[in-house]
Amino acid sequence: MSSIDLHTHTAFSDGSDQPEELIKRAKALGLSAIAITDHDTCAGLSRAVAEGKTSGVAVIRGCEFSTMTERGELHILGYWLPYQHAPLEGMLAKLRSQRALRNERMVEKLCSLGLQLDMEEVLRFAGQGTVGRPHMAQAMLARGYVQSLREAFERYLSCGRPAYVPKAVLTPDDVVTCLAECGATVSLAHPCVYGYPESWLWATIGRLARLGLDALEAWHSEHKPSHVHLCQAWAQALGLAVSGGSDYHGSNKPDVQLGVGRGNLNLSWEMLEQLMNRRRARGLPCDL
Ligand code: AMP
Ligand code: FE
Ligand code: FE
Ligand code: ZN
Repeated sequence: MSSIDLHTHTAFSDGSDQPEELIKRAKALGLSAIAITDHDTCAGLSRAVAEGKTSGVAVIRGCEFSTMTERGELHILGYWLPYQHAPLEGMLAKLRSQRALRNERMVEKLCSLGLQLDMEEVLRFAGQGTVGRPHMAQAMLARGYVQSLREAFERYLSCGRPAYVPKAVLTPDDVVTCLAECGATVSLAHPCVYGYPESWLWATIGRLARLGLDALEAWHSEHKPSHVHLCQAWAQALGLAVSGGSDYHGSNKPDVQLGVGRGNLNLSWEMLEQLMNRRRARGLPCDL
């Protein structure tokens, strides 16, 4: 059975590939289905879908939404997103405006720390879509303020570092509710990468499941085998599906490869079938 990848980023957020390049790469690797899940934007999806039709790769319209909890960030993946849906568009607009404010404030903080940068420079490293910390890191690297993107995060941009400003005004509850209402399939992205206490995660997942969460992203490049097992057990206990993806970012995260991540991924078409079966059971379309 062929492989798939349900978590990928293009240059419309913080990946390096244009949507067409990513789909062609998937084809060359023999992958049969790809979900494009750029951060907080759907702007690259139509180009990916068009290339999918040409290349013969099934493309699922996805997005990775940033949300904020009392513990910190949580990412939510939406799949089979509708084309025109006012509440979804509203949510994306809110995320965009919140990001714009946060980016300005972070650039100001960097300036006050003695790193002269302006938004124009940051925007030069962003593509046509979402702008964020990775593009600040690239601008800092270009100026020689840091020697690597990693150093930019570790010294300045990560949560708790001096230039950090939290973003996302939305809660996971808001996002799951909106996505469930618009007929999307909803998965909690990489639940174990944040280091949140298991008891808190379990309670949060239980609450989100009641709001319409469909799946947990058990397979992810940053998940250890123990994390995969934990997600599988939680999913089974709550009647959820499991999803998986590499979180491919192209040359911006060169150690993570499409389809296989760091080599630790097992992403089968069967996993996608399970998501589609849940949609069929709810009478939702699952055309690919
Ligand atoms: P933002 O959405 O603007 O908060 O930026 C978050 C993105 O920054 C993530 O999706 C990652 O791609 C990237 N990122 C987060 N932490 C690091 C890090 N330590 N090193 C490199 N990239 C990172
Ligand atoms: Fe990212
Ligand atoms: Fe994420
Ligand atoms: Zn991601």
